Amino acid sequence: MAVSVPAPVLDNPLSKPGPARLRDSHGRVIHDLRVSITDRCNYKCVYCRTGEVGAQYPELAIPEYLRLIRLFVDLGITKVRLTGGEPLLRHGLLDLIRELSQLRTSTGQRLDIALTTNGHLLDSLAAPLRQAGLDRVTVSMDAVEEPVFERITRVPGSYSAVLAGIRAARAAGLLPVKINCVLLRGFNDDQIESFAHFARREDVIVRFIEFMPLEEGRLWTPEIVVPLREIVERIGRVLPLLELPPNDPGETARRYSFADGKGEIGIIAPVTQAFCGACSRVRLTSDGKIRTCLFSQVEHDLYGHMRAGASDEELQQYIVRTINQKEARHHIGEPGFLKPSRSMVHIGG
Ligand code: SAM
Repeated sequence: MAVSVPAPVLDNPLSKPGPARLRDSHGRVIHDLRVSITDRCNYKCVYCRTGEVGAQYPELAIPEYLRLIRLFVDLGITKVRLTGGEPLLRHGLLDLIRELSQLRTSTGQRLDIALTTNGHLLDSLAAPLRQAGLDRVTVSMDAVEEPVFERITRVPGSYSAVLAGIRAARAAGLLPVKINCVLLRGFNDDQIESFAHFARREDVIVRFIEFMPLEEGRLWTPEIVVPLREIVERIGRVLPLLELPPNDPGETARRYSFADGKGEIGIIAPVTQAFCGACSRVRLTSDGKIRTCLFSQVEHDLYGHMRAGASDEELQQYIVRTINQKEARHHIGEPGFLKPSRSMVHIGG
């Protein structure tokens, strides 16, 4: 006689005593939610976009993002990073941050609210963002030399706008200001040493990121990636470095201070030193799909369920089930690797 095996019953973390914690099937605690609030962008960075206006995904209304984020937070998310596309283009951003700053985590703490931006509009927005309740900002900047920078962004005047934005963010107290620099061999790897000086001069944490195969076009090869080891060696020759312990176990960046104690850099090495085993992240796209990994081949239509009238409890069950399916790791560089259907600008970096 055939025995039917019941589907596993997944626990809703809220039904357990104690603070809610979201855990995937590999035992990783998921506490970091990245939310793309638009996939529009005012830059056309050569390593990210083709320069054509490609497919754009719908955006949710601000109260809809808020409802979904609140459900994640009640399940155990402690940190929300707003991203895009370019999040500063999104109408209603300040209202969203104001509302998020009122949320409390499952342990009663303030939610940690961060934002990743290209910085183009940050000069005038840094102070209002801070007042609305934003804690920290990461600004993308892929060169310290103006002509190199503008060859990458393809926007005249972008260098001075971003530099002003970075300084405004510091003045507004969005600290520490972190700078993300994606390195590509032959494009901007000549900027590495200058960035080390820039970090000290501008009092910012520069984080170099290994280029991942997430571009709209077809640029990625293993050879174009500038590996962590090379970055550390090259900076170390100019300014000796000391490795620092991670701030928390899920931290993506390897941290280094300069030997004289003045300044810090970080290196995010998803290609040569993958950190999937400690991944604590989940993403929500601008059109309300959950992505459990940057390289997921499937998306989970949380917004579709919400639009169909699902209750908060049903949506939370859906989130828990989805997170349970989080991939063990990515497969960059392995035979059979498949790029995801969306590029970085449409996922939300
Ligand atoms: N517009 C905002 C910005 O410029 O920061 C947020 C979105 S952007 C997609 C987020 C981050 O992803 C940026 O720091 C960008 O440099 C990085 N990024 C884009 N494509 C990447 C790739 N293929 N590999 C690694 N990082 C990438």
